[in-house]
Amino acid sequence: MKILLVEDECALRAAVAAALRDSGATVTEAADGREGLFFATEYPFDVAIIDLGLPGMSGLEVIRRLRAEGSKLPVLILTARGSWQEKVEGLESGADDYLTKPFETPELIARVRALWRRAGGSASAILVAGPYQLDPDTQQTRCDGQAVELTAFEFRVLEYLLRHRSRIVSRQELGDYLYPEDEERDSNVLEVLIGRLRRKLDPEGTRHPIETVRGRGYRFVAGN
Ligand code: CA
Repeated sequence: MKILLVEDECALRAAVAAALRDSGATVTEAADGREGLFFATEYPFDVAIIDLGLPGMSGLEVIRRLRAEGSKLPVLILTARGSWQEKVEGLESGADDYLTKPFETPELIARVRALWRRAGGSASAILVAGPYQLDPDTQQTRCDGQAVELTAFEFRVLEYLLRHRSRIVSRQELGDYLYPEDEERDSNVLEVLIGRLRRKLDPEGTRHPIETVRGRGYRFVAGN
């Protein structure tokens, strides 16, 4: 999951970002409203967490501008304690959910996951494609009901391919998703990773769940 986190309080931003990364998400941090709006407009995210009290441009203004541009990015706002007006204004501006400060990070992670699931249009958290089942909450993978042991990194690759299985995912896109901060990435790493994932998902070599589309990228084909 790719998350945009817009929060001006350094310590809080760092703590939240670290907790989200531990949960397996990729996090882009922005320290003010203008920067947040820039990232949200220029790059694809699954969910944005936006503090309302921001310098430069308020969180409300960021959301209004995003919605005015037609963005459907799911947004969770962070509001000050006791300010119900902020919550109402936030929701009216187009936010999808809110959390009042101070909050517990596990609750934030649960809310963000719920927003993401809702945006994906699936009521169940478990992703199913052919014989494969993925549970993003527990990071469990099954094939025909049997557990498949994947590393956290492999799980993220598989989850991404599965969520976008209606189309081809390019190496560039997958690389951007997996290591956005890494400028000089080695495409061999991705090849090796996909190879390992294929062997784990298909030890007999009969199912071929991940297809390589020459010159274009990868596509998860099982269950399509
Ligand atoms: Ca603030």
